[in-house]
Amino acid sequence: MAGRADSTVLAGARVVLPTGTVDNGRVIVEGGRIAGSATRDARTVDLTGHWVVPGFVDMHNHGGGGASFTSGTVEEVLTGVRTHREHGTTTLVASTVTGEMDFLIERAGILSELVQQGDLAGIHFEGPFISPCRKGAHSESLLRDPDPAEVRKLMDAAHGTAKMFTLATELPGGIESVHLLAEHGVIAAIGHTDATYEQTVEAIEAGATVATHLFNAMPGLGHRAPGPIAALLEDERVTVELINDGTHLHPAALELAYHHAGAARVALITDAMDAAGFGDGRYQLGPLAVEVKDGVARLVEGGSIAGSTLTLDTAFRRAVTIDRIPVDDVVRSISANPARLLGVYDEVGSLEPGKDADLVVLDEEFVLRGVMRKGEWIIEPGIG
Ligand SMILES: [Zn+2]
Repeated sequence: MAGRADSTVLAGARVVLPTGTVDNGRVIVEGGRIAGSATRDARTVDLTGHWVVPGFVDMHNHGGGGASFTSGTVEEVLTGVRTHREHGTTTLVASTVTGEMDFLIERAGILSELVQQGDLAGIHFEGPFISPCRKGAHSESLLRDPDPAEVRKLMDAAHGTAKMFTLATELPGGIESVHLLAEHGVIAAIGHTDATYEQTVEAIEAGATVATHLFNAMPGLGHRAPGPIAALLEDERVTVELINDGTHLHPAALELAYHHAGAARVALITDAMDAAGFGDGRYQLGPLAVEVKDGVARLVEGGSIAGSTLTLDTAFRRAVTIDRIPVDDVVRSISANPARLLGVYDEVGSLEPGKDADLVVLDEEFVLRGVMRKGEWIIEPGIG
């Protein structure tokens, strides 16, 4: 197979393992997986002066490479997947945006086939069960209260590949929907919400375990009305998503979340739309027109931020070089934590023997130099 070495030893790099970073470490790749020991004819790649970290896991992503997961053809969805792989994301969940129920059911069918083929790791339904007060880049006329029967319809249409629903849990039917999702092992994520602190606590008690892009599309942190942010940050059962593109969050907000929740409860996501890895211009986000200028996506009408153009290699580099988060902590929140939440940590999310050989090579400035997925170079480092 092109680009695939059956037995390869990556030598000389700083390797980030679940137990910590090993200087001058070795990662052995065999048959697409990480192996415990090398065979004699193994090819050695010298990665001195580089980092080797696990492949990134993005649990919230709407597209890239000019293609949309919400509306694109199968070919276009695969273009988006490939674009994000080239930026280090070796495991990716496709997120939809608010649309008509029939349309979302149709999309669930298309995307679920790509999950079954191994191109995607699952589907995240963001909307339509969200708050009109915090709609962000979702079509207001198509929003609706969470209805467990409709949630079930979407789950059924996804044939077991639905991994997460973002809900405004304070709306009628919200708590019942959280119960339903939790019973089926699907993540109930609180987001695009106008909930109070107390309503958020109630949703967490009901089984919600993720905060969809914490800080964005929810009330701010107030000292008399702490709102969802305080409830989501303080509860150990909740993982908080953060969009680290420098537009969605001030570095101090990101640091606050890391500090308060701890690295074990942060998931770095992109919330990317089509322009990620592609460029400025006019795009569609579901039914809404978006203008991307200088890498910032905004609705043409109203100017709301409309997803990001972020890729996870940039999120990683920012976290280390601008936000000063320790590398081990960034690795946890960009690989291990989302992999655990998605139920795929046995296969991916850390560099351990037996797991898929999904890894990213970074240089000393944390610029991406190589990506391997299942033992195959997506981008082969031009070194060694
Ligand atoms: Zn999103």
